[in-house]
Amino acid sequence: MNIVLMGPPGAGKGTQAEFIKKQYPIPHISTGDMFRDAVGRGTELGKEAKKYMDAGKLVPDEVTIGIVKERLAESDCKGGFLLDGFPRTIIQAEALDRVLGAAGRKIEAAINIAVPNEILIERMAGRVSCQECKAVYNLNSNPPAHQGICDKCGGQLVQRSDDRGDTVAKRLDVYLEQTNPLLDYYDKQGVLYEVDGDRDSAEVFADIKNLLEKL
Ligand SMILES: [Zn+2]
Repeated sequence: MNIVLMGPPGAGKGTQAEFIKKQYPIPHISTGDMFRDAVGRGTELGKEAKKYMDAGKLVPDEVTIGIVKERLAESDCKGGFLLDGFPRTIIQAEALDRVLGAAGRKIEAAINIAVPNEILIERMAGRVSCQECKAVYNLNSNPPAHQGICDKCGGQLVQRSDDRGDTVAKRLDVYLEQTNPLLDYYDKQGVLYEVDGDRDSAEVFADIKNLLEKL
């Protein structure tokens, strides 16, 4: 079960990744965790990546791909994996296919959690977090008991500046511009599955589970 999970910010990708991880014995590999792990273990590529990260620069593709390759070769990935946050570009997707192909494997499903932009903007505009303990609430779906006050610690709830409507719209534009070619890429391979993410997270997962059962 070799899966790539995609979805715009605010689509509930993290929640679905948790559900998938609970249901299937495959590791959830997020690029961020993978970098931290490689850096922590002090692998050659980890050291290389750290140089860029320390300088606040994007880690170049060849390093990222090398780290992905190392990670996918680990024994817990034998029965499959759930990639999250990678690939982000066609170049990365092609490199991933080469890495997998060399091991006689391939991506079996690229799952895209699709949510209309206006819904995402609404969802993110409702997001507030605690200044003290960083707990996150959503005024629409998960409001605090008392307006503006954290249930857990009594701290003040504020909206992050990058969750404001116009900023969110810009982020989504950038995301879509980057991701649409990738969706085409997987569509041409016949492995793209679009899931309607504008529903309750349990319903979204029911769809994902359905399609994974058919792989
Ligand atoms: Zn708090």
